This record gives sequence, C-alpha cells and structure tokens, in this order.
Amino acid sequence: MLLQLAQSERVPHALLFLGPTGSGNLALAVSFAQLLQCEQPADGPCGVCPACRKASQFAHPDIHFSFPTVGTNAVSTDYMKQWRLALSENPYMDANTWLQRLGAENKQGNITKDECNAIIKKLSLKAFEGRYKILVMWLPEYLGKEGNRLLKLIEEPPEQTIFLLAAENQEMILNTILSRCQLVKTDTLSDDDIAEALEEKRGVDSNRARQIAFLSGGDFNTALQLADNPENDDAQLLLDWLRKCWRGNGVELVQWTESFAKLGRENQKQFLYYGLHFLREMMAFVATGNARLRLRPEEVQTVQNMAKVLDFEKITQLAGLFNDNVYYIERNANPKILFLDTSIRMNQIMKTA
Ligand SMILES: [Zn+2]
Repeated sequence: MLLQLAQSERVPHALLFLGPTGSGNLALAVSFAQLLQCEQPADGPCGVCPACRKASQFAHPDIHFSFPTVGTNAVSTDYMKQWRLALSENPYMDANTWLQRLGAENKQGNITKDECNAIIKKLSLKAFEGRYKILVMWLPEYLGKEGNRLLKLIEEPPEQTIFLLAAENQEMILNTILSRCQLVKTDTLSDDDIAEALEEKRGVDSNRARQIAFLSGGDFNTALQLADNPENDDAQLLLDWLRKCWRGNGVELVQWTESFAKLGRENQKQFLYYGLHFLREMMAFVATGNARLRLRPEEVQTVQNMAKVLDFEKITQLAGLFNDNVYYIERNANPKILFLDTSIRMNQIMKTA
C-alpha cells in the first residue's frame, strides 16, 4: 500500500503509523520517508542514491525528526546526535529506553511548546533538495494539548509537506490530530518473523531465536533486548522463587531477594518477561485444559503441577504483580525492597482461600 501511495504522486499529507511497541511503526515511517525522497525507487527505496544515503543516516536535510524529550524548553534538534545513534541501533526502541538515554530517570517525557513552534518554522521553509519536506514525529502521544498548535499546519500544510506520525496508543492522541491523518496500522510480529530476524541480525542460533520469539510476544524491541543479554536460566530461577513464595519462609525469601538484587536491572526485567510469558501460558492451560503450550516440555510439567493449586484468578493477580514490577524496575526502583515486597504479596495470593 505504501509503495503504491509513493508512486501515485498523491501522497496524503498526514499519515499515522499506529501499532504496539516493537511492531516497527517508527521503522516503517522512517523507511517510508526515505522512499519518498529516493531518486530511483523500485520495490522500496533504492538504498544507493544520494538521497537514500543521507536518509539512511538520518541526515537528509528534508527529513525532520521530532520526538519526546525531557524538560520544558527542550527541542528535538538539541538531541539529534543521540537520536541518530538510537535509531541506528534499534528503530524498534520503546519510549522509556529513549527517555532513560536522555537521563530522564523519573521525569516525564514531552513534546514541548517550543518544539511545536520549531516544527512550524522548519516546515515553512522551502525544501532544500528533496521532493518533499517530511516531518517524522515519533510518539505524538507526548504532545498533549500543545498539539493544537500544529493543527492548522497538518490541515493545510505548505506544498509538498508530509507528516509521518508513529504512535502506539490511539487513545492518547488528540482527536483533532487523529481525524486529520490517514491510518497505517502495524501489528505485533509473528514468532517466525522475529526468530528469522534474530538469526539474521544478531546471529542467534535457531533454537534460542525460537525461544526468544515465544517470550517476546510479537515485540521485536523486547526480542532484541532478550537476545542482547546473556542467557540466564530464568526457568529454574522462577521455579525456585515460586516454591519459596509458596512456603513463605521469611529468612529464605530475604536470602533469595538479596541474591536476585545483584543480577542487575536488565536481567531482572528479562526474568519478569519470562515470568509473564510463563503465567500467560499457564492461564491458557487453566482456561482450556490444552497442554500444547509455547513452553519446553519440562516447563509444561511445572504448569500442570501448579495449576492444581492456583486458579485463574490467582494467576491473573500474579501476572499483575509481574507487570507492575517491569514498570518499577525500568524506573530504578530498589530491587531488594521491590522483590521482597512482591514475594510477600505472592505468598498472600497463593495462600488465600
Ligand atoms: Zn534511493
């Protein structure tokens, strides 16, 4: 569809690439921007013309970028160096990873009033060398009400001006902006696509690629993070933790927490992702009784044993805890306090009649 649009010479002036984290909406928007500027496009951007070469380094003078930053007066151009590096490393990245890269810690990201004014100014200039002036905006959700400043520009853009917005959460985008965009939906990726891409891009062996694909739930960003971290035996670690939580021996739980806290943030997050995957498969088993799960045989055995003592409601509550912890870990929560508290809560959930 995008290829046809590009060839049609009737490119809509605002496209919204909408899809969940890790589905590739930003990657697609950036690639489409390159296609529009390419001097000899065929089945996609040619990759060798001067326009493509600049675009692929995110340095084409007529492809502008706008993204969330930290601080009330921040503008995207101040962060182009970090942006180019982040994009070249991983165009599937998530907002939090990007904001932490800017040193956000617990501060919120935003797309500021100053940034909106800078966009208006940039797009009022003539194109330097491209056929189009393009603005790629990542996560217009962060515009908040400042987005109203851009309405007129999106509705009646200067000639040959195109907005490519890449968003994850439709409900958080101003309706007035949404209604002016043509929607391009990206979906979570298939296990096969993720496994193949991991083998190709990271040289992961096919067995492990498959395992990571199962865990990542169609999110290529998560898949890359898993692939880039040394393999832990999360299955064993989880099983051990669940047993200890079940027994609820305080000394044992404190010891477990102390050693788990030393694993580091990324490993802890990876462990939680594994836990969520495990619990999701367990829910499927409890709900359907079907033991054909996306797990290894020994894990299926554990699921079957645990399902005898935990019902669907309890598993849902455990999954909720795991989910919250991913959020807290990303925001630098103290792991000792967090996981000891979680262990106690898990014991309560498991033991409540
Ligand atoms: Zn080209």
